[in-house]
Amino acid sequence: MAGLELRGIRKDYGSTAVLKGIDLSIADGEFVVFVGPSGCGKSTLLRVIAGLETVTAGDIRIDGAEVTRTAASDRGLAMVFQSYALYPHMTVHQNMSFALENMGIAKAEIAARVDRAARMLRLTDYLQRRPAALSGGQRQRVAIGRAIVRDPKIFLFDEPLSNLDAELRVATRKELAALHAEIGGTMIYVTHDQVEAMTLADRIVVLNGGRIEQIGTPLELYNRP
Ligand code: ADP
Ligand code: ADP
Repeated sequence: MAGLELRGIRKDYGSTAVLKGIDLSIADGEFVVFVGPSGCGKSTLLRVIAGLETVTAGDIRIDGAEVTRTAASDRGLAMVFQSYALYPHMTVHQNMSFALENMGIAKAEIAARVDRAARMLRLTDYLQRRPAALSGGQRQRVAIGRAIVRDPKIFLFDEPLSNLDAELRVATRKELAALHAEIGGTMIYVTHDQVEAMTLADRIVVLNGGRIEQIGTPLELYNRP
């Protein structure tokens, strides 16, 4: 019963319909990528799932439980933004542990989670640095680490690689694929980059004009005329 269910999701901004009825089931552990032209509603759909936007109609279930009106902080999700959103005055370690301290998790457990994430993301030698002393790729890995330590039911990624240069984008993409193989979490990922979609996705959802236009594995979509 794990995963995510979207039923009849609609989102209007004033008189403009941005999502026009999205039905989608995502299985536990699946890596799903949303693609489509700029303005098609990818970010809005991700923000609706995250609880950062309310829906105009429809319902959302996580692990079978209705969360349509549940606050973002109570949905058990973690989101990684394009812009990293790290705290500049905190070290890498503090950036990764801050939210866990607020959640009341025991110190030893926090230390274990941060160490594990840092090892996975090759950040162990940088834990005492501040974000300003890191490269763009390292900063994005800290943002990913901050999501991992929360141990979320679902990871949400909003164009997480688009601020990186081409070389780093390829390297970080490979790390994300390895990460998914290692921790096996449900991942929902927005990008306008076809290569990212093809290499990362179990399934690709092509949005157009606020509707699902196509859906399938990379191979199915690639072979479709
Ligand atoms: P994408 O991520 O696919 O580029 P978005 O979800 O960001 O698309 O936006 C879809 C449409 O919704 C766009 O036309 C955008 O201008 C509009 N939109 C997004 N957020 C808002 C908002 N807060 N208020 C009004 N319109 C919005
Ligand atoms: P993205 O890079 O994800 O497509 P945008 O740069 O289009 O995002 O939008 C940045 C922010 O502005 C988002 O929070 C989005 O919801 C909001 N936004 C986008 N379009 C509009 C709009 N037409 N009116 C109001 N807010 C908007």
